[in-house]
Amino acid sequence: MQIAKLLLTILRKETEAACPQECCGILLGNGTQIIEIVPTRNVHPTPETHFEIDPQALVDTHRAARQGGPNIVGYYHSHPNGPVTPSATDRKLAAGDGRIWAIIGTEGKIAFWRDGTDGFEALSYSVSDV
Ligand SMILES: [Zn+2]
Repeated sequence: MQIAKLLLTILRKETEAACPQECCGILLGNGTQIIEIVPTRNVHPTPETHFEIDPQALVDTHRAARQGGPNIVGYYHSHPNGPVTPSATDRKLAAGDGRIWAIIGTEGKIAFWRDGTDGFEALSYSVSDV
């Protein structure tokens, strides 16, 4: 999996800006490369400990992908006070659809996971300059 340094910076800034709430959004890309990040509102009633991506943003992004835009390769959210491992809540939400989940924790830590049929699997990633 590959991601540009700039996108990691954006994920960390989104996390800081939303703190103490969780931020969330959509990861766009091609195959194993993330090329764009779409921040969305966290519409969950308790955003300090949960996230729910704005459903309208998901609909819009799916539509854009069908019309030739980049594919939805995954999602991201932050754990303002927790580790970058999927929580029990995350495991309940997991669809097992093979998409990538990015989790941003404290001190700028970021981890990527694949939401596979057997649960979350840690993904290694390389950072590119552009
Ligand atoms: Zn989580």
